[in-house]
Amino acid sequence: MITQASVRFQPARWQQELARAVAHPLELLHLLEIDPATVGLELSAQTRFRQRVPRPFIARMRKGDPHDPLLRQVLPLAEEDRAVAGYGTDPVGDLLAETVPGVLHKYAGRALLIATGACAVHCRYCFRRHYPYADSTAAADHWAPALAYLAADTSISEVILSGGDPLSLPDAKLAGLAARLAAIAHLARLRVHTRLPVVLPQRVDDRLIDWLTGTRLSPVMVIHANHANEIDAAVRQALLALRDAGVTLLNQSVLLKGVNDSADALCDLSEALFRAGVLPYYLHLLDKVAGAAHFDVDEAAAAAIMQTVRARLPGYLVPRLVRERAGAPYKLPAET
Ligand SMILES: *Cc1c(COP(=O)(O)O)cnc(C)c1O
Ligand code: SF4
Repeated sequence: MITQASVRFQPARWQQELARAVAHPLELLHLLEIDPATVGLELSAQTRFRQRVPRPFIARMRKGDPHDPLLRQVLPLAEEDRAVAGYGTDPVGDLLAETVPGVLHKYAGRALLIATGACAVHCRYCFRRHYPYADSTAAADHWAPALAYLAADTSISEVILSGGDPLSLPDAKLAGLAARLAAIAHLARLRVHTRLPVVLPQRVDDRLIDWLTGTRLSPVMVIHANHANEIDAAVRQALLALRDAGVTLLNQSVLLKGVNDSADALCDLSEALFRAGVLPYYLHLLDKVAGAAHFDVDEAAAAAIMQTVRARLPGYLVPRLVRERAGAPYKLPAET
């Protein structure tokens, strides 16, 4: 018999799905009917940043195609182990920007909380892949140092929940945090940086929408999709539900060689985002993080792609190409 209590402690559907994420490259290739021996993929045997891919994301990859743009983002390759000059472990200076554990205050008016180190998907190009999360999430001590910092600085009007992926935390915890943020009078906006609605759209359920839209803070969500194929009907439905609940939706992408480094790919992405109620926000040049050099698109090539994109799309569907530089007061425009 199912008792009240056992129902209550049942993990949410998205948590069950997350627990089934595929952690081994050979299993991933098997699901995609790709023979690792025949396609010349050299898998990374030893990586400290393990593969992790939710199955709904895998379902959007093309079977039999080792160059699939979604697969490339998540498959650990031996190229990652190559040391490349100029690529380090903290390319954007986050460790220097940390004020109290888990709080990054780099830019005027906005403070970013590292809510958790955990992500639903492990993106091979991630600039935080070497970040020492265990010592520095804002969730330590029930958020007390982070909340004290935010409360003491009246110049901060926006809090950004980031990570890791903040939506890998349970809703009860996030709801508690949102309520305590709303109690800080000078805060006006609550922004969430997350890839979860894209890689696991089941994450967007009533409980999430309740806490995100249930305080006096204006909710903003910045999702992260790099390719139009990431946005299928289920993702679109999840995003439109957020938009209909009053959440302002933006997208950030990373310009990645072999994934989206063409005007066609970027235009298709913008169109797919718009159909899902999302406007493109930033297109980041790759941060020079060790292990990601094989994704780099140089600045001249990026500028040429953007010229074509601009000639094809309405201005509001053109993302801002930016480069992050340690110590800069904002994300620097990369074409001038
Ligand atoms: C990117 C970033 C922000 C947000 O910048 P916006 O330009 O407002 O999107 C805030 N804080 C940190 C530390 C960041 O890296
Ligand atoms: S979801 Fe975001 S933080 Fe997590 S690995 Fe991917 S890019 Fe990095």
